[in-house]
Parts: sequence; structure tokens; C-alpha cells
Amino acid sequence: MKKQIRFIFLMGLLTGFALPHYAQESPRDKGLSAITKEALQGQLEFLASDWTEGRETGTKGEYMASDYIASMFKLYGLTPGGDLEAARMGGRGQRPTAGAAAQRPEPKRTYFQNINFIESYPGETQEMSIITKSGSGSRAVDFAYQTDFSVTPGQVGIEAEVPIVFIGYGLVDEKNGYDDFKGLDLKGKIVIKLNGYPGSKDMNSKAYEKFKPAVQTPDPNAPRQFRPGGFGRYPWANEKGVVGIIEIRTVNDPTTQWAANVPFRYNTATYEGDVPQSRIRKSMQIMNDKVDVGYMTLQVTDRVINEIISGSGIDIAAIEKQIAETGKPASRELTGKFMHIKTTVESRIVRGRNVVGVIEGKNPDEIVVIGGHYDHLGKQDGFIFNGADDNASGTVGVMTIAKAMMATGIKPEKTMVFCAWTGEEKGLLGSKFFADHPYKDKILCDLNFDMISRNDPGENMDNKIMMNYSNKFPISRELVEKFNKDLNMGLEIKFTGSEKPGGGSDHASFSAKDIPIYYFMAGMPPEYHKFNDHIELVVWDKFVKIVQLGYLSLFEIVQNWK
Ligand SMILES: [Zn+2]
Repeated sequence: MKKQIRFIFLMGLLTGFALPHYAQESPRDKGLSAITKEALQGQLEFLASDWTEGRETGTKGEYMASDYIASMFKLYGLTPGGDLEAARMGGRGQRPTAGAAAQRPEPKRTYFQNINFIESYPGETQEMSIITKSGSGSRAVDFAYQTDFSVTPGQVGIEAEVPIVFIGYGLVDEKNGYDDFKGLDLKGKIVIKLNGYPGSKDMNSKAYEKFKPAVQTPDPNAPRQFRPGGFGRYPWANEKGVVGIIEIRTVNDPTTQWAANVPFRYNTATYEGDVPQSRIRKSMQIMNDKVDVGYMTLQVTDRVINEIISGSGIDIAAIEKQIAETGKPASRELTGKFMHIKTTVESRIVRGRNVVGVIEGKNPDEIVVIGGHYDHLGKQDGFIFNGADDNASGTVGVMTIAKAMMATGIKPEKTMVFCAWTGEEKGLLGSKFFADHPYKDKILCDLNFDMISRNDPGENMDNKIMMNYSNKFPISRELVEKFNKDLNMGLEIKFTGSEKPGGGSDHASFSAKDIPIYYFMAGMPPEYHKFNDHIELVVWDKFVKIVQLGYLSLFEIVQNWK
């Protein structure tokens, strides 16, 4: 009994102290109080739910997600920063009189910036054979489409007979003096590539120790192909004029292979959908962009690989072992080996949209952009790719900072533009389109969130995060360091500054235009780009702290940065 009384007394004391302090809460702190676990969770639960069907660009699920984001922007009190509303006529055929025209209201903006994309996918004809030529003659083995191979096309179809080159991991690592391309001419050729990196399949090997830090660490500047499990574009392939890439998947991951789809898919407990298509067979570009002829990516069965390497003296397992042991490339042209390929490409127009909400500041002409992509990989191969971390988390970060800024009750100095990007997973398309057609011409800086709710694999990662920033924007780092300390957040932040931060996320679209950026990422979880990137795995405390750091630093930048 006594204890209880004391407890109540203590509570009274605490409230007594807390109240007057609350009354003096600064605008900045009022905003900070709006960033809670509940706020993040409430938004994330819908955005990463099955209702949004993995939010693939141009699909119903993505439209539903963008409607939701726009509704929240409206609820928080942001003004629309997207396209003008289509002109509304009073009625079909009614012409406004001169008087009515004078009163015609200004066209209103919407929250949506619409973008036309062209999506390319395999057409009707897909033929492939492996040809082996030797002194005495040649043999051709035909393989069947969707049985032995699958194609992610470039932008146009081709028919060709081309040499095949083995390029190891397709890795150049200057620091370790490793270059898989050295001495090879890849123009007009098909390349066959191992997935991973030297030593990635043998954690006890020398090469693993050597290459792991450069490749395994989720360095947001690292090109996407170096990221574990990452699909994506190979920037070198276009530069070197490669016709196509065959990636050998020595790690068997059924969710990434078209073949997994066919016979036994009903056996898996995670089967959630009914779309029998591979998620990596389509490519997309912005409609009015220059045609990027591109290269194709082929997924093949072991039967095809065996036919390619037969007689070449290459043994995949042995060669991986050799590279892991020596740390030296083993790339070479496969003499006498050719691929005949005939592939047609079909295309269609897909419409996607960025969501743009604005808090107009005292200066309406200079804007600060806060963005994150809301699109993800969709519903494919029978799975819904919910993408809770990638990147419902970052989108919720953007929305919650909007909420917090409105909660400050002040009109900010600079104008803040909150953006949820489409088309990131297709090649940073939405942010690129915005950077080319911004809400206002003068963009002062961009804050990007991509994957801010999870950990890297390993022990004690709950406090470790990464922040990348432009060297010419050191204030972003200083502010983040300061608030991490002032608020005793206890985050260990790995900062990486560079001239033009690139890599596989939307800040690169701004960085490419010399706009200073800063970018948060919480970690590279094992569920990255897999169907089980689910909300149950979110590390809430860390997620809240990153959003708070984003808000606090941005508040200072908007109010005081010159
Ligand atoms: Zn992402």
C-alpha cells in the first residue's frame, strides 16, 4: 500500500515538472513529438500490406499505394505539387461565354506527377542454340524457351550468332587489383557470369575476407550488381557493347527462377498469388528518353551451362574454388563456342506517377526535396513482394516528416517538397523524371530515404546505420552527428562523403545534376528483394530514430542553412 502511495506522489511530481515544460515546447520539438512508433507503424501497415500487391510501377497496387500517400499528404495539410488537373468543362459542348471565361477558376494542381513509361518484354519468337565449332565441323544444340532459358530483353529484338566469353564475376575492384575484364574484348558478345564475388560462396576463403568489405557491406554507393541478391543493371555492359549476359546462379533460390513457378508452386507455404511470370523479364524506360538499345539478360538451366562449357576445360565449381583461393581472375573467351539467338521484343505504354506534396515556405522559389521510392517488385512468381523495408519504410519516413513539419505550426523559411517516387526498381525512373521536370526549377538539396527499418546481418546491429552525403553538403553530416549526440540516440553512423554520390537509389538522380544530397539507409537485410521483406521484421526503435534525425537536420536546413 505504502509503495503505491509513493508511486502516485512521484507521478504527481513528474507531471508537475512536465507540464510547464510542455507549454514552452518549441515549434521544432512539437514536430519531433509527432514522430512516434505508432505513426510509422500505422502508415507502414497499410503501405506494406497485401492490398498494395507489392506496388510494382504502373499496376493497380501501385495506384492504390499512391492514392493512399496522396490522402495522407492531404490529411497532414500539404498542398498538391503534381500535374494540373485536367480542365473540367461545365458540360460537354457548353462553350464558356466571354463573361464566364473571365471567372474561370485557375486550374488546380493534383498530388500526382504522371509519367509515361515504355515497358519491354519478350515477344513471340525466342530461339536459342549453342554452337560448338571445331576443326572438323560444328554442332548446334537448340534449347527451348521457358524450359531451358528465359530472357529479359533489351529495348529491341535481335538475331545474331555471337561468341561467348566467360567473365568470372564481372567485377572490377581497383583496391584489390582485381579486374575480371582485363584483356577481354566484349563487343558484340555474350558473356557468362558467376553471381556473387570472389570467395562469396566460401566464407573461409582468403578471397572472401579480401572482397567482402567492398562488396558485402551495403555501401549505398556500390553499384547495384554488387549488392547481395540485387538484380539490376550492369552499367559496364552497355559501355562494353555486350549483346547479352548469362548469370549463373550457383546459389539456388527458387523465388528467382522462372522454373520454380511451373511444377510445384502450390507446395510452398508462402504462395500468395497467381501471376505465373518471372519478375525479371521486363524492362522499362521513360517514354521520351533516348532509346537505350540495351543488352539482354538470360537465365538458363544447368543443361545450357553444361553445353556451353563442354570441351572448354572450364568447371564452374572448380573455377570458383580457384578464384577464391588465388584471388585472381580466371576470365577468358570460350574458343569455338557461339550462341545463336533470335529474340523479339514487344512493348506497351505503362503509366506511373510520383506523389508530390508541398509545404510552401516564405521563399516559394527555392525548394528542398524529401523523397523515397514507394514502388517495389510487385506480385510475381506467385509471391507478393511486400517490400516493407524496401521501401515502404522510406516512404513512411517522408510522410511522417511531412506530418511533423505541419505539427510545428510554422511557415518554414524554404519550401519543402515531399515526394514518393515511382519506377525506382525499374532504374530510378520516377526521381529522374522529377529532377528533369521539377516542381520548381531551383532544388537546393535532396534528402533520400531508402530502406531505413532493418539491420545488416550479424550481431548487435540495432544501432548501426549509414548515411551518404555530398562533400559539398557537409552541414548534413554535422547536423546529423549533433542531433544523434544531443538526443542521446546512440546510433553508430557510418558516414560516406563523396563528390557525386551515386549508387542504386533515387538520390543519384539529383546528384547527377550536381544537387547536394544526403541519404539514409539502415542496413542490407537478407530479405532484400525477396518476397518476405515483411513488416514483422522491422526494427522500430532504429526506424523512429532515423526519421527523427532526418526531420531535425532538415528543420535546421530549411530554417537556417544559407
Ligand atoms: Zn529501394
